[in-house]
Amino acid sequence: MNRISALFDIQYPIVQGGMIWCSGWELASAVSNAGGLGLLGSGSMYPEILREQIIRCKAATDRPFGVNVPLLYPNIEEHIATIIEHKIPIVFTSAGNPKSYTARLKAKGIKVVHVVSSRKFALKAQDAGVDAVVAEGFEAGGHNGREETTTLCLVPAVRQAVQIPVIAAGGIGSGKAMLAVRILGADGVQIGSRFIATPESSAHEAFKSMILNAEEGDTKLTLKELTPVRLLNNPFYQEIVRHYENHASPEELAELLGRGRAKKGMFEGDLEHGELEVGQVSSMIRAIQPAGDVVREIWQEYQHELNNLQRLT
Ligand code: NDP
Repeated sequence: MNRISALFDIQYPIVQGGMIWCSGWELASAVSNAGGLGLLGSGSMYPEILREQIIRCKAATDRPFGVNVPLLYPNIEEHIATIIEHKIPIVFTSAGNPKSYTARLKAKGIKVVHVVSSRKFALKAQDAGVDAVVAEGFEAGGHNGREETTTLCLVPAVRQAVQIPVIAAGGIGSGKAMLAVRILGADGVQIGSRFIATPESSAHEAFKSMILNAEEGDTKLTLKELTPVRLLNNPFYQEIVRHYENHASPEELAELLGRGRAKKGMFEGDLEHGELEVGQVSSMIRAIQPAGDVVREIWQEYQHELNNLQRLT
């Protein structure tokens, strides 16, 4: 059996990214019900919201699902306590030191996966005792690595460095891409952007429409002085560009970003002033599709391509 399917007790090694403002119980349960692994994106949830989301997700699926916890989340202790109390079997941590919570979660029998953007961080995560790593390349939406390592270069480097299972992320939205990263050494895939464009995602409809119209080059990686982030080129991004042209300091960039930009853009649909986090693969997403269909389509295409590999000889 595939190492990722076995680790999470799921049918297909396809994980839905736990994206802030997009990944509530509707999306996570739909992905898990279809045989993948759904994740709740707890980074945008106040503690009582996460509790409610977990209860709803449990009511909507009998299958395993997990929670993504950005380690720089302000009320992280409460989230960790909620996860333990509700016996969540799988936690994906990101944006922080994997040493902080791995041992505590694992002592409770929880599988821990950490998201990394470099070989060095993958080794650090393995040393911290995580069960698997997500190797997320430059193409990915949202928070991103500083080194700009692409998925094509990152996955084989991480594969070579660690013994634990590797989940590839960044630029993956099809069964063909899944096969490509499996050949590079990944045991499974994590997919974000494609799952935003589903009826079950909690993203605002205007944001979903903008993804459907995104062209090649429409997402940009920026704000490296703060936390690097990939987002859609909109008036807010243009304002960031103007700040750079005027040699803005990190403090001035932080002031421009302010608070709640991601909520404004992704959840409230303010396409002008909001932050719209999505990956490069958005230029290939052309339809809103039920999340279960996305899982099945990716798996079927992967199988089909795998069975036809001979055509490449
Ligand atoms: P901001 O500081 O700009 O805004 C905080 C937002 O999070 C507000 O919209 C607020 O909602 C909401 N929120 C939810 N829970 C809390 C809480 N306990 N305390 C304060 N605010 C809370 O942060 P961002 O919107 O940029 O990011 C929010 C979180 O998501 C962070 O933890 C960040 O690390 C994570 N994140 C992860 C990304 C990834 O790629 N994994 C990408 C971007 C962010 P309200 O307006 O209702 O008060």
